[in-house]
Amino acid sequence: MKKKITIAIDGFSSSGKSTMAKKLAKTIGYAYIDTGAMYRAVTLYCLNNGLINGDIVDVAELECRLADIRITFGVNAATGASETYLNGENVEREIREMRVSGKVSIVAAIPAVRHALVAQQQRMGSEKGIVMDGRDIGTVVFPDAEMKIYVDASAETRAQRRFDELRSKGNTDVTYEDVLRNVQERDYIDQTRAESPLRKADDAIVLDNSTMTIAEQDAWLLDVYNRIVNK
Ligand code: C5P
Repeated sequence: MKKKITIAIDGFSSSGKSTMAKKLAKTIGYAYIDTGAMYRAVTLYCLNNGLINGDIVDVAELECRLADIRITFGVNAATGASETYLNGENVEREIREMRVSGKVSIVAAIPAVRHALVAQQQRMGSEKGIVMDGRDIGTVVFPDAEMKIYVDASAETRAQRRFDELRSKGNTDVTYEDVLRNVQERDYIDQTRAESPLRKADDAIVLDNSTMTIAEQDAWLLDVYNRIVNK
């Protein structure tokens, strides 16, 4: 039997990392965790509970309530996809909406939020056999991961992908320019925040998938995995 490893996939928003992480996990029989969904769920909680006013988060109140915010994942029996639950309610669709995307990087920059979610992510991956995607997986959550990938692609390519995805889900009131602005704003906040900013781990392998098809990137990732486990 092949040894079980930890696979960390980091990169900018809409870089296609979730698509490839999910596919790899399915192919090799590993669990998959979308950590962006966890930050999105906390953001949705803040929005629904009046903890965000403009760009200001009521950090003191959020810190008091962090213990009451329960984020879990469940498999959709019909599609086989992993979906996000916030305190028992399926929020998979809502957390992808622009109102959440517009605030998530502000919430994700709050140290207490990061500490709580990183601790939960470390528990989820304690047995290895996991593919986790995010911004700080190879640097903070699992600095000892055997396989680390850092995905890069131009902001325009990524905005186009996210725009196409939103449109395909029936979201017609959002423009490409709105999505590009949101991608650039999140890139900026994610890279410049004080607490665990997005950066490539020194030992991560870089993938620029700007001109790759999904099938090409899946094959590339599986090849990296096979080389690591067969070493
Ligand atoms: O991956 P996704 O774009 O859904 O992530 C949403 C936001 O959550 C990111 O823009 C980033 O601000 C935050 N995030 C983070 N650390 C992670 C995953 C996501 O700060 N590990």
